[in-house]
Amino acid sequence: MSDCIFCKIINGEIPSAKVYEDEDVFAFLDISQVTKGHTLVIPKAHHANVYELPEDVAGKLFAVIPKITNAVKKAYNPIGLNLLNNNGEAAGQTVFHYHLHIIPRYGKGDGFG
Ligand code: 5GP
Ligand code: ZN
Repeated sequence: MSDCIFCKIINGEIPSAKVYEDEDVFAFLDISQVTKGHTLVIPKAHHANVYELPEDVAGKLFAVIPKITNAVKKAYNPIGLNLLNNNGEAAGQTVFHYHLHIIPRYGKGDGFG
């Protein structure tokens, strides 16, 4: 989608700090990290939200979540980790290309929740 920030990140038009990439999935550091290592995982195919995510796209995305979360865990050594997905403005969604937040947690006062 031509005016989508995340599609532009996937095709390199907008630079990002890449964490993971394969044929179908891209992961990169959030530009405004709520905690150290805050990472976004997106399908390369543009789908606005979870309601519109085809099963095969969801399957490929979630298949690599353990691998990506383990890489984040190894890199930042958090004591916990939240996986979060906002759908709709009322839920806090600001970018309408489906994405999962990986939010490493470091204990009380880590800035999230
Ligand atoms: P949402 O609020 O839609 O669940 O999350 C969108 C996330 O995308 C936000 O955490 C925001 O900081 C991040 N974001 C928005 N624009 C950019 C960008 O250009 N680059 C990166 N790396 N992250 C972005
Ligand atoms: Zn997009």
